[in-house]
Amino acid sequence: MRYKYCPECGHKLTERPAGDEGNVPYCERCEKLWFDTFPSCSIVLVANEYDEIALLRQSYMSDRYTSFVSGYITPGENAEQTAIREAGEEIGIIPDTVDYAGTYWFEKQGLLMHGFITRVKKQPLTLSSEVDWADWVPAEEVIKTIFPDSPGNAAFAIYMKFMEEYYGGRK
Ligand SMILES: [Zn+2]
Repeated sequence: MRYKYCPECGHKLTERPAGDEGNVPYCERCEKLWFDTFPSCSIVLVANEYDEIALLRQSYMSDRYTSFVSGYITPGENAEQTAIREAGEEIGIIPDTVDYAGTYWFEKQGLLMHGFITRVKKQPLTLSSEVDWADWVPAEEVIKTIFPDSPGNAAFAIYMKFMEEYYGGRK
């Protein structure tokens, strides 16, 4: 989000050059630069020892396509902590660690996705009320229902990474 008014005093912002950043919104009253902000999310592909992936469907996102555990990073958390917390909240699994799988700019919603992959022991999924359906799905079948490839689709990108680097016990 690009600020038009000062979030602290409400004064209309002007622009001021800030080194390599170019022109940045500036409050003349507070003498403060207001850089663009955007939400950050974590998304984590949770796989078990049988190469099954925890797939979720959340009707507020789509009735048709599936995705992985994801959620907004809250202030004070790092992206790894968010991924682990969301896995606990959405499917009742708390991974010990998560592997970094890149970041993805999701243009449609103007947010930065932090991707992760984790391996856990197979166990029953316990769904939160915001998850309409979730189940362990063999990795090779995930392609049938996951959100199709499109610019900034982190789910598809980390799925492809899983198939290349982890599938079949490679990791
Ligand atoms: Zn101000």
